[in-house]
Amino acid sequence: MTKYIADIGLEVHVELSTKSKMFCSCKVVDNTEAKPNIAVCPVCCGMPGTLPIINKKAVEFAIRAAAALECKIARTSIFARKNYFYPDLPKGYQISQYEHPLAEHGRLIIHTKEGPKTIHIHRAHLEEDTGKLTHVNNEGQAYSLVNLNRAGVPLLEIVSKPDMHNVTEVAAYSKELRLLLRTIGVTSGDMEKGTMRFEANLSMRPADCKKLGTRVEVKNLNSFRAMENAIQYQMRIQQKTLQSGKPVKQQTLGWDENAGKTFSQRSKENANDYRYFPEPDLPPLIISDNWITRVKEAMVELPNEKRERYRQAFDLQPEETERLVEDKAIADFFEKCIETSPTLSARAIANWLFTDLFAWINLNQIPLTKIKMSAKDFTDLISTVQQGIINQNTGKEVLRDMLASGKSVYEIVKEKGLQQLSDTDQIALLIDRVLKKHQSEVTAYLNGKDSIFNWLFGQVMRAAKGKANPQIIKQLLQDKLNLRQ
Ligand code: ZN
Ligand code: MN
Repeated sequence: MTKYIADIGLEVHVELSTKSKMFCSCKVVDNTEAKPNIAVCPVCCGMPGTLPIINKKAVEFAIRAAAALECKIARTSIFARKNYFYPDLPKGYQISQYEHPLAEHGRLIIHTKEGPKTIHIHRAHLEEDTGKLTHVNNEGQAYSLVNLNRAGVPLLEIVSKPDMHNVTEVAAYSKELRLLLRTIGVTSGDMEKGTMRFEANLSMRPADCKKLGTRVEVKNLNSFRAMENAIQYQMRIQQKTLQSGKPVKQQTLGWDENAGKTFSQRSKENANDYRYFPEPDLPPLIISDNWITRVKEAMVELPNEKRERYRQAFDLQPEETERLVEDKAIADFFEKCIETSPTLSARAIANWLFTDLFAWINLNQIPLTKIKMSAKDFTDLISTVQQGIINQNTGKEVLRDMLASGKSVYEIVKEKGLQQLSDTDQIALLIDRVLKKHQSEVTAYLNGKDSIFNWLFGQVMRAAKGKANPQIIKQLLQDKLNLRQ
């Protein structure tokens, strides 16, 4: 049977987190919280005679994103009118960019189990968002409500090449893109609020054929899960169609999450349906070399750069590195620990951070940035355990005390008299007492019941109120039992 390969590209619409809209001074408000139509003006309502003005911050964010995606940034880009009629588009056209987009030819390196892979960015351009329609059907009375708060909000549309071949790569790309854009601070990337919206284009071809097949587009994919399900569904449909010898129909599809199916929205749609032409109300957008240089110089460390730096500097598990790359607050805390205690290993810090500290954080639902313990206090605790002043288990308890009280490890150890007992003579005394008290267990051990050893160890530790050095107990207990054999 012929093997088929899928070629998948993504179009991602990203709401830029500017204070005001793309072409007017209306505030950008939260889509899900603000009352309808409170952030509107004659410009974004599409009143005749009004003129758009380009939002400089939106352009800066677009340059920043384009630079982070290693795009070639156009020194001159042109806004264009994309004409279509829809009730959520008051002007009857959307101001977008078409022939001369702001950025082209970029790339994003993604990571899957198969290793790193480059996904090419075809283009990225600026445009404005539409309003939002709510369709109501109230006991037979059907009508639609329009909310123009979102009309005119700046969007960056990022179009990848069809470089992805399966849902794993699609998921890796979309998550990496979201992480990158959030890291550089150009969007909230909040998919539940629709600030990042995905569309996929997908075609299939026989494995030995170079030419791409006929593509379909799948719109309104509002979550990573919806995207994966829709793509998998379409891959199955197209493969079946091709295997039966029929052609794939070029069309635009929607995704019905509840039914788990795509549905046809409209058939074949071409760019010339939109009658694009240069926007006569706006001058060409000219970006100076100087501006691009300034944006690049102010760029924060990108996720892939951080991964590489951590890989070279620290002995961490890949999942630990990912957690640090994905959450700046955790990474900052981790680096502060390294900085304040250069003698501690990154491994030791990560162990305490990802197990005991996070166990407490998850249990108490207090974010890392709000805890009462500084990075210095945290590394002092780890050092205190490493130096054998308190043992591991006591250390875990002390950590919980520190987090609850805000006190340092030294204060707590002193207050509670937790200093570890490392004096061999004192420990030997405790062992003698335990062995004397539990003669029958000792006999059972000597007769070959090995598991009794741990039980005896526990009794000694109990006698020491949990404060004895466990290595010393183990060694002495073993020695003493050997003497009896
Ligand atoms: Zn407005
Ligand atoms: Mn668009």
